[in-house]
Amino acid sequence: MFQIPSISRIESTRRQRTIKSQVDVEGFGFWSSKDVVFSFRPAPENSGIRFFRADLPGSDPIPALVYNRIKKPRQTSLASGIAQVDMVEHALAALRGARIDNCDIIVNSPEAPGLDGSASVFIDAFLKVGTEEQNSEQIRLKILETGVFTDDSNPNGGKIIVAPNDRKQTIFEYNLHYDRPNHIPNQTAFFDFSQAPEIFQTEIAPCRTFLTIEEADYLRQQGICARVSAQDVLVYGEDGPIDNDLRFDNECARHKILDMIGDFSLAPFDWEGEFHATKTGHQQNAEVLLSMLNSLSHKNLR
Ligand SMILES: [Zn+2]
Repeated sequence: MFQIPSISRIESTRRQRTIKSQVDVEGFGFWSSKDVVFSFRPAPENSGIRFFRADLPGSDPIPALVYNRIKKPRQTSLASGIAQVDMVEHALAALRGARIDNCDIIVNSPEAPGLDGSASVFIDAFLKVGTEEQNSEQIRLKILETGVFTDDSNPNGGKIIVAPNDRKQTIFEYNLHYDRPNHIPNQTAFFDFSQAPEIFQTEIAPCRTFLTIEEADYLRQQGICARVSAQDVLVYGEDGPIDNDLRFDNECARHKILDMIGDFSLAPFDWEGEFHATKTGHQQNAEVLLSMLNSLSHKNLR
């Protein structure tokens, strides 16, 4: 259930940007174990973020829009026609973090490189090569009143509160809270996305994806994530991360903010407002974003 807040287009505060020149990021997909190269290239203004499956000649481009999202557990996947690309949330968060609005991503496999389960490699690559301002203004939307989303599929009460911010900021907060005993301690993270990209680069981008040893064992039994080790991502046992050290005390909650930034970038707009989430994930982020977009008329946006 979502009591959708009213939203209005306001004056833009910046122009659109693209990446200055091509940069490639290589690795392997966590789920598929396949080697992959993601090649990020400059793109014209108003073209948005688009994936192209070079290994599927003639296939449709896949615009990074919430309308193209398909349901897959524990990740954000996009599809258009026969073309699909999985686990794109960390690359998308890094693009948004670097304020790259227009970018063509040529890919040769159906899944993003997992790397260390964070967005560091992506954002480091983007900020190193630099970004370029374009002519068109980036559309900016302001949240005018509080709206509350409750996750009806979760009996333990997942929730996202969308609220106005009178200091012209974009705020993300995540409350990680397990009701049953869990190796991962309850924790909270808060991030002001209005700060410079370099703050996102140091405070949020390095935070890695996480799971419990029981979840890791289950995935391995299914033959999934065979190339991923406890040194690659955070695997929690009884005494904390196995074979690994935390980068922040609340690294898991910060990672959930990273996921939120990636998921909420599936609409080509800047937001002025606050997103406070508790016990939610990719699916709930998408439901909130889709509901808010559907409540806006095209007249509001053009
Ligand atoms: Zn993630």
